[in-house]
Amino acid sequence: MNCYECAARAEDTPAVAVCVDCGVALCIEHAEVTPRRLSRAAAMNRTVAVGPVTRTVRCHLCRAAVDAAAGRRAPAPARAGSPPTARSAPTV
Ligand SMILES: [Zn+2]
Ligand SMILES: [Zn+2]
Repeated sequence: MNCYECAARAEDTPAVAVCVDCGVALCIEHAEVTPRRLSRAAAMNRTVAVGPVTRTVRCHLCRAAVDAAAGRRAPAPARAGSPPTARSAPTV
């Protein structure tokens, strides 16, 4: 399987991971890895961290969406006079 993002640019790059949200295959350059801390419920409504820190792999789109939903990186507001960003520019 080849990387979806690379294939969209007419490049054939072997995939090394799959986005956990949308399922596209990704090469090492396009795979965005974030740490994932697992926890379990304990007595007295406590949450206890367990095990080693694991990881989550996402494509850049899903990573941006998850970050925006969590309020970590809000999408740039579209204001009059602001220069267009690379993210909002159509890519052909
Ligand atoms: Zn790629
Ligand atoms: Zn994705």
